[in-house]
Amino acid sequence: MPSHNLAHIQIDDLDVLGYSVAGEETVVALPQLDVCFDIGKAPDQLISVPHVLLTHGHMDHSAGFAYYLSQRKFSGMAPGTIVVPANLIKPMRTIIEAWGRLDGNRIPVELVGVRAGDEHQIKPNLIARAFPTKHSAGSVGFAVIEKRKKLKPEYVGLTGPQIVELKKQGVQIDNPLEVPIVSYLGDTQYVDFSQLEYVARSKILIAECTFYADEHASRAAAGRHMHINELATLLESMDNEHIVITHTTQRTPMREVHKMLKGALRPEIYDKIIVLMDRKWRQPQRRY
Ligand SMILES: [Zn+2]
Ligand SMILES: [Zn+2]
Repeated sequence: MPSHNLAHIQIDDLDVLGYSVAGEETVVALPQLDVCFDIGKAPDQLISVPHVLLTHGHMDHSAGFAYYLSQRKFSGMAPGTIVVPANLIKPMRTIIEAWGRLDGNRIPVELVGVRAGDEHQIKPNLIARAFPTKHSAGSVGFAVIEKRKKLKPEYVGLTGPQIVELKKQGVQIDNPLEVPIVSYLGDTQYVDFSQLEYVARSKILIAECTFYADEHASRAAAGRHMHINELATLLESMDNEHIVITHTTQRTPMREVHKMLKGALRPEIYDKIIVLMDRKWRQPQRRY
């Protein structure tokens, strides 16, 4: 039996698997893209996902990283790559070394430190780009972007041999094109993320919304989290096809969450919303 009862959403050809309850555990993976955002605990369905993109060091988002790495080793997999805010590299190394001593086995890892704006290659045409969030020192969100090439308009309609000829002459026949597939905000206070065009037009946006009641607005600000009214403001300026809401609490029942989202968002925006922890998305599933 798998260790976790994860939520499982299918968006076109992509699976989104995860579990996200504020203060408890957050982990959200898109196995077809080879990425797992945060790793609060380490669900065994997601051990095989080769890259963890860690947004910040809070325990409910990061506690599973050493277990993830060691499980990969014992299953004979290549070392996991963990992309993290650069200021976390040192404490993470300390933890990995300490676990190595405790366990009696060295824990292999590829640790990659990033600052906002840095990119890390996931697959030949796929990169993860870190962007700034407002939560804890160095915290970042991640966008996973497909890099393609688009034929310049003046060359559209040419035959294969003509294109080969132009290439031989050293003519630059295409422009680089970025297709942002998913952006994950992690934990963050409200920031106008629409100013980052690749986040604004990501096909999928994964956004936290921790506080729902009006009287909780100050608590959202104090904890550097998003309140539903701020989420509503943010989504007005975004252009995503699908919006997955994470980091809900046990305190606000799912029925309430839906009711309040419906009240706060325009119908066209509410229609794009999927709440990750909605019971209907949670089911036992296979390993990846
Ligand atoms: Zn959190
Ligand atoms: Zn946090």
